[in-house]
Amino acid sequence: MTEEKKDNGAAMKRRILNVIVISIGLLIVFSIWSGIFNLGSQAPEIPYSEFKRFVADNKVQSVSFEGKKFTGAFREPVTIGNRQVTQFQSMLPPYDDEGLVAALDASNVDVSSAPQSEDGWFGALVMNLLFIGALVALWWFMMRRFSGQAQSQLSSFTRGHHKLYRKEQSKITFADVAGMPGAKEELEEVIEFLRDPSKFKRLGGEIPKGLLLVGPPGTGKTLLARAVAGEADVPFFSMTGSEFIEMLVGVGAARVRSLFKDAKKSEPSIIFIDEIDSIGRVRGTGLGGGHDEREQTLNQLLSEMDGFESHDEVIVIAATNRPDVLDPALLRPGRFDRKVIIDSPQLDERLAILKIHARDKPLAEDTDLEDLARSTAGLSGADLENILNEAALLAARNNQDSITNENLREATDKVLIGTERRNLLHEDEKKLVAYHETGHALMAWVLPTADPVHKVSIVPRGMALGHTHQLPERDKHIRRREELLDMLRILLAGRAAENAFLSDISSGGQNDFKIASDLARKMVCLWGMSEEIGSQYIDTAEEHPFLGRAVAVQRTVSEKTAEKIDAEVRRLLDEAEADATATLKQHDAAVHELVEALLEKESILRQEIETIMSKHKVVRRENKA
Ligand code: ADP
Ligand code: MG
Ligand code: ZN
Repeated sequence: MTEEKKDNGAAMKRRILNVIVISIGLLIVFSIWSGIFNLGSQAPEIPYSEFKRFVADNKVQSVSFEGKKFTGAFREPVTIGNRQVTQFQSMLPPYDDEGLVAALDASNVDVSSAPQSEDGWFGALVMNLLFIGALVALWWFMMRRFSGQAQSQLSSFTRGHHKLYRKEQSKITFADVAGMPGAKEELEEVIEFLRDPSKFKRLGGEIPKGLLLVGPPGTGKTLLARAVAGEADVPFFSMTGSEFIEMLVGVGAARVRSLFKDAKKSEPSIIFIDEIDSIGRVRGTGLGGGHDEREQTLNQLLSEMDGFESHDEVIVIAATNRPDVLDPALLRPGRFDRKVIIDSPQLDERLAILKIHARDKPLAEDTDLEDLARSTAGLSGADLENILNEAALLAARNNQDSITNENLREATDKVLIGTERRNLLHEDEKKLVAYHETGHALMAWVLPTADPVHKVSIVPRGMALGHTHQLPERDKHIRRREELLDMLRILLAGRAAENAFLSDISSGGQNDFKIASDLARKMVCLWGMSEEIGSQYIDTAEEHPFLGRAVAVQRTVSEKTAEKIDAEVRRLLDEAEADATATLKQHDAAVHELVEALLEKESILRQEIETIMSKHKVVRRENKA
């Protein structure tokens, strides 16, 4: 707060100084300008009677009439006042001076006359207008030059609304948001309130003023907030947390203030704060950079929300995917006290999302959105939209009239794994990758709880040199121990195959190991799946809100337990790899044939795998779980 005031004060001083400098500059220019004018009409004005005397004294050489005004030149310099002049000017009297012509003739004065210009007032006016125009242009130019960036940002801040946040009248409705029936239902009440606040007030109902949308990235939080505004048909003020922070120091809080002021002016209305975690992080940690600024902004936000009166018709919706790092003060009653959870979309929701985004895209007969929905478990709405978009681009690149199923498949791989990088691998590298992937695939085929293998490929994509794509038959929300063990076996089967059939090991297993190690550690420490450790929750390396996993927040276990944990994790991994090795060796003929097929075709689909497996009588294990 104080920081902000100081800063505004300094900026203000700078501004005043600028104005003074510019004013002085203008004054100088003005006096030079008028100086030029005076030089041009330097000739002194003399009374008509005096002029007549000069003529009579034979001192005037010439006169030039211009309407009633006239100028003239002396034959020799004459002293008028206290200066020597050669020129003069004067006015004719309002009566006809009959003696003038004779006097001029007598003194042999050259007489001429200039075209009459309405006593010159028009010319003077034009000159003055030009002068004022020039001044304005100069002022404008100098304001722009001198003020520079800081000045323009400052004035956009003082003026209030530029780029600070967006106000829109949302046209998005719930029809554009697929799935999430629970979230929609929770928001229905808010929509009704915004549509007709008086109804609620009459009955004395208190509507929550702050809603927090919580969910993974791309699951439609922003979309949903817009849809609420669209459904209620009220103005939607939105701003992103990180944008607050990027701004000049000291204006974050001011932005919040003007945002709330504006929203109240057009109530009923919705304020939407995206990525609220970037301003709403726990205060006082000193981490995350520019925290002073962030805390001021957060404090301002809190005080604005506390300042809501019961009659205010503004609803504040915020979105985050990191509710765990939010300052508890944000979640207190009267602030964001209602949470709406948005999950990754389920199978039917994925299908609905695909249908929404396929509305304006021509799909070929053979496309199967349901199949696509099934093969995209865990993906967000944004990912699905992206897949359809990629597919449309692929179709366009091939000059097709419609999007085919093949386009959809290719787009899915691209979004899931990465762009194809053909010809990246040498022949011997290909062989290694083929054995590695075959290891994963065969184990996934054999293990009872594993998701069915859909495709194996040794075409590098993104960071992966090859991949084995398993297709879950349904979304899973909870994993049983046996399933997790099977996952470990599949993960380590890549390395096991290299080792067993090539007597060589490669660096290609890094990602497998990372996932497997994390999983095994969670089984031991978080899920109570090791008898040695028991049913405990041991938080050894909790993800640090700012620094990631690199920093162990605190070790809450003794050295002894820590050693036991390490041993248990090691045991799980070793056992899984041993199982994989034994199984692969048992089915070595199938392994070799799969490798052959992969080297020949680079990618093989479920059907071919099935043929090879049944030929070698590789069957699924009994399900123990
Ligand atoms: P978030 O704010 O949760 O990160 P967005 O609202 O920005 O996600 O979603 C990104 C895009 O993904 C949306 O613009 C929309 O096109 C698509 N999308 C996500 N979820 C859905 C959904 N449930 N229905 C329709 N489209 C969705
Ligand atoms: Mg968003
Ligand atoms: Zn692997």
